Amino acid sequence: MAKLYFRYGAMGSSKTANAIMVQYNYQERGQNALMLKPRLDNRDGARVVGSRSGLTAPCRFVEEMDQLDLSAYNCIIVDEAQFLTKAHVQRLVDIVDDMDIPVICYGLRADFQGNLFEGSHWLMAWADTIEEIKTVCWCGRKATTNARLMDGKVVKSGAQIVLGGNESYVALCRKHWAKGELAPEEIRRISAGKEAYMPLLMEADPSEDMIRKYLDEGEFYALMLRGTPVAVAVVVPWGGGAYELRNLAVEASHRGQGYGSKMVRYLMKQLAGRADRLVVGTSPANVGFYERLGFVREVAIPHFFRDNYPEPIIEDGAPLDDMITLSARLA
Ligand SMILES: [Zn+2]
Repeated sequence: MAKLYFRYGAMGSSKTANAIMVQYNYQERGQNALMLKPRLDNRDGARVVGSRSGLTAPCRFVEEMDQLDLSAYNCIIVDEAQFLTKAHVQRLVDIVDDMDIPVICYGLRADFQGNLFEGSHWLMAWADTIEEIKTVCWCGRKATTNARLMDGKVVKSGAQIVLGGNESYVALCRKHWAKGELAPEEIRRISAGKEAYMPLLMEADPSEDMIRKYLDEGEFYALMLRGTPVAVAVVVPWGGGAYELRNLAVEASHRGQGYGSKMVRYLMKQLAGRADRLVVGTSPANVGFYERLGFVREVAIPHFFRDNYPEPIIEDGAPLDDMITLSARLA
């Protein structure tokens, strides 16, 4: 007998990655698994499911399932199942019971206010098997709630459905969700809403045009103190097994407190599995900072700043001219 499964977890518990792996496992055995998601969720464009880890897979909308020949499938997988309606869940129950096709649903249990979503409500009520996919709060306890963030604060009022990724939601344990308490200090990778950080990024690079270019192709990280960003960094693939640190900025009132070093050390650890070198081009005044972090001086590019920026960049009262490149081995 086929079963209806509900696998629930908080934001960031790899639900989509799990869903994609299950589909892949079916394919490996020469079987067909249909991937569905409710049309409502358009974060990853139409008819694609995408996980934070970068895995993506084509899908169809739940709303389209009755136009498909479902008997051609050995399994049906539903991502973002919290957004299903009661009628959708009823239809999935019928598919399991009448067609004997297993249906595996992945979704959140509760919304940012702690209320069940419609889809989760009926899956909790009717699923044969309910399984939790675990993830942790910053404090190390199990994260069971999804806090919505606005301007770095946990908010408790608003519409139930506001689509967003890790810039607008964070998984917390019940206690820290109730208190609205974010990590005292954490570094997060930001994938959307990078615009909000432009003033901070421009502290290290006055050219908004240039920043936009490398923000698109690079990875963006922010060091947050209780949800407020105090340092940001952008790294871009450089080729030949190296990454380049293109921007490192610390908010003015937090300078000289080690946040810049913390960010660079974090990036060196993050990139170590994927690259063997981190390269940076900087002004002579910052060479000491990077050397203390293990970087070694490579070359000087004469007049780089004078030639590449329309306006002179003033640092410590003098215009920048030559750029020094340094690199660090990533162990
Ligand atoms: Zn906690």
